[in-house]
Amino acid sequence: MSIDYESQRDWDPQTQMVRGATERSQFSETNEAIFLSSGYVYESAEEAEKSFKGELERYVYSRFRNPTVSMFEKRLALIEGAEECRAMASGMAAVFAALASHLSAGQRLVASRAIFGSCQYICAELLPRFGIKTDFVDGADLAQWKAALATPAHAVFLESPSNPGLEMIDLKAVCDLAHQAGALVVVDNVFATPILQKPFKFGADVVVYSATKHIDGQGRCLGGAVLSSKQFIVDKLTPFMRHTGPSLSPFNAWVLLKGLETLDLRVQRHCENALTIAKALEKQKGITRLLYPWLPSHPQHNLAKAQMTAGGSVISFELAGGKEAAFRLLNRLRIIDISNNLGDAKSLICHPATTTHQRLTPEDRAHVGITDGFVRLSVGLESVDDLLADLNQAFQS
Ligand SMILES: *Cc1c(COP(=O)(O)O)cnc(C)c1O
Repeated sequence: MSIDYESQRDWDPQTQMVRGATERSQFSETNEAIFLSSGYVYESAEEAEKSFKGELERYVYSRFRNPTVSMFEKRLALIEGAEECRAMASGMAAVFAALASHLSAGQRLVASRAIFGSCQYICAELLPRFGIKTDFVDGADLAQWKAALATPAHAVFLESPSNPGLEMIDLKAVCDLAHQAGALVVVDNVFATPILQKPFKFGADVVVYSATKHIDGQGRCLGGAVLSSKQFIVDKLTPFMRHTGPSLSPFNAWVLLKGLETLDLRVQRHCENALTIAKALEKQKGITRLLYPWLPSHPQHNLAKAQMTAGGSVISFELAGGKEAAFRLLNRLRIIDISNNLGDAKSLICHPATTTHQRLTPEDRAHVGITDGFVRLSVGLESVDDLLADLNQAFQS
């Protein structure tokens, strides 16, 4: 049963999240079906030949496309306002596919310094092994972007807000500079979610997500996505994907489709809870630095307000007592769990210096503000009063 997908681009995001790209089988099921099938059968040998020649649009093999995965891809593309989307097995598969499908030996990548630990590995260690040169800049400093993009570059990779320092990057200004230098701009939009920030509006060429975070948001499965123009997806990403195999499983795609249905509601609640907690922590003794984009005390609050519609789910703060104080706080919490995931229904806290960012040298950590007393709190969907009480008792005892 065919659907008029293009007309769904006029729907409001809340409708797109619940109904976008739903395609029903001959059984007219209400809920999207899970097509757990690795392959597909052909009516004739001729049909198989035509399918492999690309003369026929149909499912061929689930490493390439799958009906449940396609529904997820098309729904996310509607929400993001992208021409095309390809789902990946994880956020890291999405980041790597976006960069590796575009860059070749001898080309240059400019990246912001404050990025997720594994993204840092790809930019600083993996891509250079294949002859790609990476230059890092302090993302909040436009002068450094200007200097780095004064010479030609092929790609820019950045994260805003950054993990875990919640540093904001001026997307419009950096996209303009990057395009003058001939670079494709890839934005890791995980912290902002598809709800709070639209990088394409500011000139981004590719948006990547770890769907593991808010899109699932309930701790169930890994997933990722790359969104871009039809040209980038068809010419660059699709051949890379088809032949290297970072494909998302149909089961996980189905879980993520269900996640999209409630994404708007959950992200609004994450943001409300996080803002309330951030305001309370501003008055907490023993905290030397508190970062939340929606607090006027955030060094880039105005930029956050210009680019995002709310502050997000993550609060980062530094304790005066260093690692010892940070560990003490984590160990005393009774509701908030110690975990390195984020954007989850459950509130989670972690100590980046010894977990997500332990691979960095102490100098690199210091450069992006990850000190020994630095903790990252991902605020969940529990009652904000219970979360405040939990933090209170942990700080007090
Ligand atoms: C978690 C995360 C990733 C990686 O996603 P996975 O799904 O864990 O592979 C990439 N970028 C950012 C900003 C993240 O928070």
